[in-house]
Amino acid sequence: MLTLDTKIKEIKKVGPTYLKRLKQLKIKNIRDLFFHFPHRYDDFRQIISISQLKEGQKATIKGEIVEIKNTRLFHKRMVLTEALVKDKSGTIKVIWFNQPYLTQTLKKGKIVNLSGKLSFVKKILCLSNPVYEIIKGQSLRDSPFLKDCPLGTVPYASYTHTGRLVPIYHETAGLSSRYLRYLIKPLLPLTDQITDFLPEIIKKQFNLINLDQALKQVHFPNNHQSAQVARQRLAFNELFLIHLNTLRQRQKLAEEKALTIPFNQKLIKSFVKDLPFKLTDGQRIAVWQIFQDLAKKKPMNRLLNGDVGSGKTVVAIMAGLEIAKAGYQVALMAPTEILAKQHFQTFKDFLKKSNLKIALLTGADNLVGQEKKITRPQLKKRIADGKIDIVIGTHALISTRGGVASGGQKNLNFKNLALAIVDEQHRFGVAQRANLQRKIYQAEDGLPTIPHLLSMTATPIPRTLTLTIYGDLDISILKEMPKGRQKIITEIIVPADRQKIYNFIKKQVKQKKQVFVICPLIDESEKLSARGGPASGGEIKSVTQEYEKLSQKVFPQLKIALLHGKLKSKEKEEIMKKFKDGKTDILVSTSVVEVGIDVPKATVMIIEGADRFGLAQLHQFRGRIGRGTAQSYCFLFTDSATKKTHQRLKAVLKAKDGFELAEKDLKIRGPGDFSGTRQWGLPDLAMASLSDLELIQKTRLAAQQVLENNLLDPTLEKKLKEFQKLIHLE
Ligand code: ADP
Ligand code: MG
Repeated sequence: MLTLDTKIKEIKKVGPTYLKRLKQLKIKNIRDLFFHFPHRYDDFRQIISISQLKEGQKATIKGEIVEIKNTRLFHKRMVLTEALVKDKSGTIKVIWFNQPYLTQTLKKGKIVNLSGKLSFVKKILCLSNPVYEIIKGQSLRDSPFLKDCPLGTVPYASYTHTGRLVPIYHETAGLSSRYLRYLIKPLLPLTDQITDFLPEIIKKQFNLINLDQALKQVHFPNNHQSAQVARQRLAFNELFLIHLNTLRQRQKLAEEKALTIPFNQKLIKSFVKDLPFKLTDGQRIAVWQIFQDLAKKKPMNRLLNGDVGSGKTVVAIMAGLEIAKAGYQVALMAPTEILAKQHFQTFKDFLKKSNLKIALLTGADNLVGQEKKITRPQLKKRIADGKIDIVIGTHALISTRGGVASGGQKNLNFKNLALAIVDEQHRFGVAQRANLQRKIYQAEDGLPTIPHLLSMTATPIPRTLTLTIYGDLDISILKEMPKGRQKIITEIIVPADRQKIYNFIKKQVKQKKQVFVICPLIDESEKLSARGGPASGGEIKSVTQEYEKLSQKVFPQLKIALLHGKLKSKEKEEIMKKFKDGKTDILVSTSVVEVGIDVPKATVMIIEGADRFGLAQLHQFRGRIGRGTAQSYCFLFTDSATKKTHQRLKAVLKAKDGFELAEKDLKIRGPGDFSGTRQWGLPDLAMASLSDLELIQKTRLAAQQVLENNLLDPTLEKKLKEFQKLIHLE
């Protein structure tokens, strides 16, 4: 007896190979299988008489195989399967390439449905590579279908691969749509057993169909409309669960205790007075919001969101100062060693007068203030003893790897960590961020407290995402840039104008200006071509090729360096340092250019294959220049001549800030490519719905209602748990 919980390995049709493939898609039981949705449908509903077929048409025919044979095309190393199929009205030739095994199933005399496209091959109208379906045990004469219903009105529900809206699944992990249809269709009646986890009242209010109905129709819909309604229900499910998760997370965190740090006005006033610049309004508001959070009993969970160069670091420094001066510890985690070191330097500079002990802990360095030498175990001990006020580091802060270097001690322990700061938070996993907040401190009153959390990111996050996957965070936004920054001149450059730009660069370098050249990732070209994506791998310049071209042909007299993610961290550090010190004229880099890096003398940027990047990402790159007082230039190189590409790129020239671009990006490309949403591992449907503000608002409302009215029953609780696991929200 099959049930929803039956493991797929117990299904006869699933052999060891397919078992592995299905497991890759996290499909373990029949229920999981039902939640693997098709992404589109082929409309093969119309069954057409052979005599009425036309070139270019997509159609299904139903007929008898009169003849079928394989021919080996030696010169092309191919097998051609040719068949003649007839119905009452006529005969047509059908061909398949490289599927010689077909003749084992498609035999003379069989009645088949064939769905595919009509085209001329050597002047003969053919159906080529059609999907087939054998109509079992029926000859054309005594087919019950044909007796009762004239051609074209056969009941769609009876077919699987043809003569209906045919589901097409993403063919990943070596699973064909045909196989999935073959597997899923006969099991679908089991959806009757599914318990709908959405409360009736919510379904009624939001006009949603039942879950079993939605699952049946999403796989094998009766018509386009019923497929649409089914997808709506399923998209609702996913967004609803995301909201439920984030809202609950919020509730739970609000129940935790944190240290209350009252606002130290005198301290902060004097710090601000000594700053070499005036804080922007955005910085002031953000700092104020943070101080209010810190004064509360529950932990802060705030995201500081501001463009590259908007001045997030000084906000973090002020929060750190307040906490450290109150006698508690602060930890700041950055995604790279270079950035951690830069922060270490900046914190020391800004907090010179404060008498605070500041330390650096990365895979490569262990430093305290101005001290020359300290071993990692020594540093760890000092941190544990509370002799360090502010620790800045990389993943090393949360690493659980023991080993000799760490003196065998696994976790880094703090005496009284009260504030955890995560810079460039989108570069970390959800779990890593949470990990830093798991350093518990037993407060004076004996109650355990967890640190306040301040996350920072330069990635603009569209409103829809702040409502959904970032729904558990409070957000401060730095809208404006510090005063005195010049607007970067940005231009789209077509191949014909390349030389002009190269000449311009020569002049700029003569004036001691520095240049970034950004190329798409090396890996990216492989990925794109493997997917059969928009361009062949050859079209994308690999960064190495670009480096060679520039250093040998275009600028043989200039000093050029190459940077990409595959280099060792020491090498990267050296290359960055040389560039920062002005010893290199041009830095050719992949998109992995280290985040957060400040090279004020770099004023020119070329972005190769600009059309391949998201708009928000282009904006991010551009943020690396225009940090000094000199005029900066950004050139978006593109080989694409299409109007659409140019329009898209023009948005980068026009948009007033990164937020506007992020919203546009979301509309054009979907949310997949930024804000680290990929790493959330959201299902496709949820992914696609992340730009649907209306649905997002509806589902949020539904989740709120469920929580407020205590509708979270065991079925829903169970579903939520499964979902959390599925999308790494834990
Ligand atoms: P990001 O937000 O990208 O982390 P940073 O914190 O690195 O930006 O700041 C970029 C630069 O701007 C730094 O050199 C910093 O000292 C400077 N800066 C920060 N705030 C201001 C301000 N209000 N006025 C002028 N310069 C500022
Ligand atoms: Mg920064």
